[in-house]
Amino acid sequence: MNLTAEILDLRTANESFRIARAETSAFQTAIVSLEHEGTVGLGEAHPSAIYGGEDTAAALRTVEAARELVGDDPFRIEDVTGRLAEAFPDAPAARCAIDLALHDLVGKLLGVPLCRMLGLSPERMPVTSYTIDLAEPPVMAERAAAAAARGFKVLKIKVGTDGDDERLAAIRGATRLPLRVDANTGWTPEQAVEMIRRMAGYGVEFVEQPIPAGDAEAWRYVRERVDLPIMADESAVSLADLPALVGCVDAVNIKLMKCGGVREALRMIHFARGCGMKVMLGCMLETSLGITAAAHLAPLVDWADLDGNLLIADDPFEGVQVRDGRLVLPDGPGLGVRRRA
Ligand code: MG
Repeated sequence: MNLTAEILDLRTANESFRIARAETSAFQTAIVSLEHEGTVGLGEAHPSAIYGGEDTAAALRTVEAARELVGDDPFRIEDVTGRLAEAFPDAPAARCAIDLALHDLVGKLLGVPLCRMLGLSPERMPVTSYTIDLAEPPVMAERAAAAAARGFKVLKIKVGTDGDDERLAAIRGATRLPLRVDANTGWTPEQAVEMIRRMAGYGVEFVEQPIPAGDAEAWRYVRERVDLPIMADESAVSLADLPALVGCVDAVNIKLMKCGGVREALRMIHFARGCGMKVMLGCMLETSLGITAAAHLAPLVDWADLDGNLLIADDPFEGVQVRDGRLVLPDGPGLGVRRRA
């Protein structure tokens, strides 16, 4: 198989996108092509430095170095992704791009969408939340009202800095939609307990990553003191992280770009559910290529937060759509994604 990659420059739909631990406006994503006897599978790498220190240039180098490891048989996805995980443990986004390209390629060779390849029913697609990033309370309230008017059924609110109460109050004044809250590691365990108790009053469904990653006992401390469900995101990178979280969190946020692609995401979904945890599929600021790949797994999970493609300007790809708040998969083979002219 012939593996190539290119870097695309992207920018956010709003002037910037801000969360408790970062802010971005212009960024890059790497698009991978995997060709086999004239058929091309596509994948995306959107690295995040907090996972393995990977950036787009590093992802590109990994893809270059992986050319000899992909072999000649696109159907041996488990073997190829296993070799890549061993060779490049700190390059989850680059491995994800190759994993997605393999799934896209095999789907195209078989003539079936990825969702059907996995035995899943496309009519079981969940609604997706729409993310309101950190801004002044009136701006967040205005964006929340606009999202409700566009048909979204649930909003994800970024918090984790000073003024969270004012933000939630302003948004609650603008819409009655259910809210999910993401603190992106912004609180200490003690602050988290206090803040999560207050969040219950705003009709919040669950709170994502209230505390820094890496301390299972801190999760347990919070969980024993609050009623709202709590979800691990930065703490739940790959399958190896999940055993320590059993009993400490109610749910996990699984992302293709963190874990290395479809194969690892499936293992995580089944492990988490087997241990009684709920599962959300989340994303980075990806194009419709990466978002559509994740959407093919969405019939397996409880919640979807697959809106990264809606938060960037000039999405170079077209794939999954949102109708009346619900994800709708394309019906083409593989990922079903096409590049815009
Ligand atoms: Mg999160």
